[in-house]
Amino acid sequence: MVDESMRAALRALPKAELHLHIEGTLEPELALELAERNGVMLPWTSLDELKRQYAFENLQSFLDLYYQLMAVLKTADDFRDLMLAYLKRAAADGVRHAEIFFDPQVHLGNGLDLDTVMDGLLEGLRLGRERYGIGGGLILCIVRDLPVESARHVLELAAPRAADLIGIGLDSAEVGYPPSLFADVFVRARELGLHCVAPAGEEGPAAYVTEALDLLHAERIDHGVHAADDPAVTRRLAEEHIPLTCCPLSNRRLQVVHDLRDLPLRKLIEAGVTVTVNSDDPAYFGGYIGANYEALAEIGFTYDELKALAADSIRASFLPEADKRALLG
Ligand SMILES: [Zn+2]
Repeated sequence: MVDESMRAALRALPKAELHLHIEGTLEPELALELAERNGVMLPWTSLDELKRQYAFENLQSFLDLYYQLMAVLKTADDFRDLMLAYLKRAAADGVRHAEIFFDPQVHLGNGLDLDTVMDGLLEGLRLGRERYGIGGGLILCIVRDLPVESARHVLELAAPRAADLIGIGLDSAEVGYPPSLFADVFVRARELGLHCVAPAGEEGPAAYVTEALDLLHAERIDHGVHAADDPAVTRRLAEEHIPLTCCPLSNRRLQVVHDLRDLPLRKLIEAGVTVTVNSDDPAYFGGYIGANYEALAEIGFTYDELKALAADSIRASFLPEADKRALLG
């Protein structure tokens, strides 16, 4: 068991969060508050009833709830409040820098415009820096099971605000939506000066990791645990210094593994791959980044090992080198 002093020590480690969907931080309390503020009718009236929905059974019931609750986000103030609630928790867990995904296609589908979403999130980031001393930026996330045309469209809408973004990423269902579908979207993103990241090898095979590197020029792989199934892919990640953004509690909640001990994190680390610890959709998956570090401590990772992973998360960020040195110092 992780005792209180270990818990505090892990939370005190300066770290970066590199795989976090802001919509996945919507706690039931805030969801109900925003529903009331905006006059959005939800099928659940009480907090207890809504909390029970968060005990979903499988990926589909998670996604159903996730998309349904996003409808409570209507105004820039809502996005600001969502961002601030996350940054407050992250700062308490020792996060000093966060590179945060958001899903513009879903919000556009709910009738919002891109500026409303981005202005609110950026205002939240500005206030978070001021109040909690935590820095960060936004990664535009493409929903891979929506038509590719919609991805192209949202990227063109975002193009005039490329300077407000760190990068482009992908999310939602992996199997059946290989990285190759989005090759031209990522070419355009690179033209706009965006960093490229992509999930691969979460539920999909190691071959998707290769595709994400070859066709999307991904600079980081989100999840990527199945890279460990193929020694050549593992070696390539190590040699090309491509970090993985792993999310242990998410993997367990979505049954990528039944037991955290089955995650090949040590195998990847020993092969020279940079592994980072992140929380993915923490309101839904059982804990923020501190809880993910603790979960690894519970399966035997030592403080020194976790300290090294925290330092690697800062190195794996897109911060300028001087900022990385300052945080590591
Ligand atoms: Zn994710």
